[in-house]
Amino acid sequence: MASASASASLESATRGAKSSAALEFLKSSPKKLLINGKWVPSKSGKTFETLNPANEQVLALVAEGDKADVDEAVKYARKAYEDAKWANLSPHARTGLLLKIADLIEQHADELAELETLDNGKPLFESRNIDIPGAAETFRYYAGFATKIYGETNPSDPSMFNYTLREPVGVCGQIIPWNFPLLMASWKIAPALACGNVVILKPAEQTPLTAIRLGELICEAGLPEGVVQIVTGFGPGAGSSIAEHPDIDKVAFTGSTEVGKLILQASAGNLKRVSLELGGKSPNIIFPDADMPAAVFGSSLGIFLNQGQVCCAGSRVFVQESVYDQFTDSLSKMASGLTLGNPLDPNTRMGPLVSKEQHDRVKGYLKAGKEEGAKAKTGGEPGKQEAGYFIQPTVFTGVNNQMKIAREEIFGPVASAIPFKDEADVVFQSNDTTYGLAAGVWTKDINRALTIARKLKAGTVWINTYSVLDPISPFGGYKQSGFGRELGKYAIDLYTQIKSVYARIG
Ligand code: ADP
Repeated sequence: MASASASASLESATRGAKSSAALEFLKSSPKKLLINGKWVPSKSGKTFETLNPANEQVLALVAEGDKADVDEAVKYARKAYEDAKWANLSPHARTGLLLKIADLIEQHADELAELETLDNGKPLFESRNIDIPGAAETFRYYAGFATKIYGETNPSDPSMFNYTLREPVGVCGQIIPWNFPLLMASWKIAPALACGNVVILKPAEQTPLTAIRLGELICEAGLPEGVVQIVTGFGPGAGSSIAEHPDIDKVAFTGSTEVGKLILQASAGNLKRVSLELGGKSPNIIFPDADMPAAVFGSSLGIFLNQGQVCCAGSRVFVQESVYDQFTDSLSKMASGLTLGNPLDPNTRMGPLVSKEQHDRVKGYLKAGKEEGAKAKTGGEPGKQEAGYFIQPTVFTGVNNQMKIAREEIFGPVASAIPFKDEADVVFQSNDTTYGLAAGVWTKDINRALTIARKLKAGTVWINTYSVLDPISPFGGYKQSGFGRELGKYAIDLYTQIKSVYARIG
């Protein structure tokens, strides 16, 4: 991007950005693939555009990796793995390098936050306070694990000594979505590296920038070449080649349930280990005895954070009949008070959706909701901005659990408020879904909360809070929300395999 018109268009695409480092990064376009410690163009020479969804202008061109590039990435990853450049490093050295990556993320937090907001559209307020610190924290958390991955000695017959080794799985393909680009990259890369694996990460085509920048920081931290490859590209192409590749040992995927099923099928060829974190249609339950201001705020966060593009969003808000009108009034007031606009403005609380495709999808659900007889108590329309993929925060009332807007994942700022009669009714309705990622319960009656928490078929339950995620605790789905647990010590199970060793004694 050297020409005057290119730099003028970059200036216009990034209007409001303050980080000179982010702008410098964007100027060196097209962005390349990280393979074997070097930045290389795609073999086909093809690139694709990544846009700022707040103004629909091009931020950068990005290498379009496909099968040939994945083959190349796997070749070098395999070599790095077999040479044991990483797995045989002392665990303390691996800890040190992962901590260094965490430090570098923190040192570059302002730049990374702006890049994330430019590429994804999420408010800077969120990227600076949630995504980027969360990514650093994840690397730091798993840095500690590198020195704490234990085998066991087992109660074998006295003529034998039996012990287990926890070994890395090998070459891991990791395919991530666009909703929390850097955070998802860190959830994938950090535990895999802590366990001694090598990785090939494919960021989402809508939001490749922070993963590329993370790749640069990983090189700066001094990881051996071939340990981390970043292959940008599309789902069919780069993503599918990873899922199918005969020399990849494990694939970890976060994305839609639909694509999760394709990944599972594609992985059958060489029986890859698979972990899937997929969609959701999570219930968020409000009882009349809840602390109402807290429940309204928490429910608003539950559905409107990141424009509702969150797999565990509390998109079905179940409210007991006696407080239904009062609660939905308050939630609607809070929704209409969220400042919609340029996400780089620190006061903005809701930016655009990530892409035109997503904008069209969510508009389709707004239409479907109205056609099915739900009422938009607030919102229900696209935002009024001149450009960009904005949707007004929306609260639908008069929803029942069989409507399309209550059954399908919208992935937008759309709450479907559904009345319920009693505990049994709400547990039944909450579980009446193909998904099972998360759930929320708001009540001051702790017995009721704990009882319901047991009955909900969901991988995470929040009581009197919502959307809290911390690397200390596992995250993943029941039912068609996926399988395998990321975060916490559970991610170590995903990225290690166990070897049992018998030795005859005497
Ligand atoms: P969304 O519908 O939210 O965009 P997707 O599940 O389509 O989510 O995408 C999540 C990730 O999966 C992205 O990195 C995307 O490129 C990738 N992907 C999409 N289709 C495929 C596929 N057929 N095989 C492998 N990866 C895919």
